[in-house]
Amino acid sequence: MADYLISGGTGYVPEDGLTAQQLFAIGDGLTYNDFLILPGFIDFTSDEVDLTSALTRKITLKTPLISSPMDTVTESSMAIAMALMGGIGIIHHNCTAEFQANEVRKVKKFEQGFITDPVVMSPRHTVGDVFEAKVRHGFSGIPVTETGKMGSKLVGIITSRDIDFLSEKDHDRPLEEAMTKREDLVVAPAGVTLKEANDILQRSKKGKLPIVNDSDELVAIIARTDLKKNRDYPLASKDSRKQLLCGAAIGTREDDKYRLDLLMQAGVDVVVLDSSQGNSVYQINMINYIKQKYPELQVVGGNVVTAAQAKNLIDAGVDALRVGMGCGSICITQEVLCSCISVMACGRPQGTSVYKVAEYARRFGVPVIADGGIQTVGHVVKALALGASTVMMGSLLAATTEAPGEYFFSDGVRLKKYRGMGSLDAMEKNNSSQKRYFSEGDKVKVAQGVSGSVQDKGSIHKFVPYLIAGIQHGCQDIGAKSLSILRSMMYSGELKFEKRTMSAQVEGGVHGLHSYEKRLY
Ligand code: IMP
Repeated sequence: MADYLISGGTGYVPEDGLTAQQLFAIGDGLTYNDFLILPGFIDFTSDEVDLTSALTRKITLKTPLISSPMDTVTESSMAIAMALMGGIGIIHHNCTAEFQANEVRKVKKFEQGFITDPVVMSPRHTVGDVFEAKVRHGFSGIPVTETGKMGSKLVGIITSRDIDFLSEKDHDRPLEEAMTKREDLVVAPAGVTLKEANDILQRSKKGKLPIVNDSDELVAIIARTDLKKNRDYPLASKDSRKQLLCGAAIGTREDDKYRLDLLMQAGVDVVVLDSSQGNSVYQINMINYIKQKYPELQVVGGNVVTAAQAKNLIDAGVDALRVGMGCGSICITQEVLCSCISVMACGRPQGTSVYKVAEYARRFGVPVIADGGIQTVGHVVKALALGASTVMMGSLLAATTEAPGEYFFSDGVRLKKYRGMGSLDAMEKNNSSQKRYFSEGDKVKVAQGVSGSVQDKGSIHKFVPYLIAGIQHGCQDIGAKSLSILRSMMYSGELKFEKRTMSAQVEGGVHGLHSYEKRLY
């Protein structure tokens, strides 16, 4: 308000809009679409806006974005991409403990530019196998090792030049007859820096550079096509040993203690206790167990939507709270009407949940993750303006190149599958996801999520920069040069909100056009 007085010089400006406290005092639950933030005064450029924010008590991120622990959203590729962009990925647990720990290990061992899990073949694979791999993966420089696996002796490489002039009748020929043999390959020793490896690759004029250890076993490759992509990521989320940060979700049962041990051995930085209703004796016991056994490990509790739920988890010692119940795009928790199952018909509109829990948790220094219901970058800004420190997304990040699963076409549209972890589809895959949605001893399973598909969004490496720029623009319009300023403006009452009627929502969308194209970045 003072800014207007100074810049305008015309004197008194009447009070306008509602403070967050007034907005939520009304008592109706509000979603992100039910309100807007009134603009402030701009005296900085949008790229000056600092998005640094706390993930947990001890971990800070430069980008306040988290990919959700869902089996159609976060495995190692997503977690690597999110961490490179300054956020973090939480590896899902709808899989064996060994698989999950291995995904965490891939993130922690990731070195920019080095491909540690390429397609590898053995000398007994055939030329036909290479053609098939080319169709599936779109490339053809495949290293050949004795066993056809990484970590085994390198015996050659099969490239498009080796197979270009071969025909159908050659498809059964084994690779040992067609490949370029080990003695003709340029390789680099393990431990080489990325810069040295890039130089060797450039000088060699080859497409791929295998990296081998002292026993000539293949440990990684680098690809010429990646040379230009091997750039710096100044925002990357890293630990003190310069390894990327990685999170993982676990449940609260006895066997999750074994899972936890494997995750710890793999180097996990933060675990998320994955329950749709986190205010339970099971979660409190698990928090106590973890805090005793691994006091340094950061633990996220949840999900919660009220201060009373948050209190129990804060008392038990959580390092952050995950907020949201029934707001996820694939969620039917609020609408399944079956009184015999306790969580059904429970939930809260996400705007209210985030404000209420964050307002309580900040007194104890516990950051809040706004989880679910994010459909646009504007929703991210609203979540942060209501006190969330970070935002967790499922559907918004689904169907990116880095999300698990293959693309498929339907009616000419390129799609990837996206499903709720409480959908029957996900629960049938492995029983871990059931644990999120059912208490110990539940006999009858009722779905709390649906399974569907989402349109191809391209790579996280393009999509997250769009989100980052969008959040910075939002903060600039508000007049907040950092997320901590945004939060203090909100708590001091300087930040003003307004409720949005249905017709205001229509006005805020595209309208009055016969047709239009929606390209966001
Ligand atoms: P989205 O970003 O709106 O798609 O919501 C993602 C969030 O929904 C996740 O992070 C979970 O908290 C929640 N979620 C995941 N699966 C289910 C489900 O099957 N039912 C209800 N909520 C779910």
